Amino acid sequence: MNQELCPSCRVVQNMDVSITTRTESKDGESKDIQTSSFQCASFHQFVRSEDKELSPV
Ligand SMILES: [Zn+2]
Repeated sequence: MNQELCPSCRVVQNMDVSITTRTESKDGESKDIQTSSFQCASFHQFVRSEDKELSPV
């Protein structure tokens, strides 16, 4: 389980992480972007998200 400082609770909380993948077109190339969304497990409040480019296979 991920733990992060929750700006709402002002303490370190367990985070629920949901991962979505989308395809983005940039400069004529399509790239797969994976977004991890972190939510406070206590209040189900969005904390932050993190984009990661998936390397082409
Ligand atoms: Zn919280």
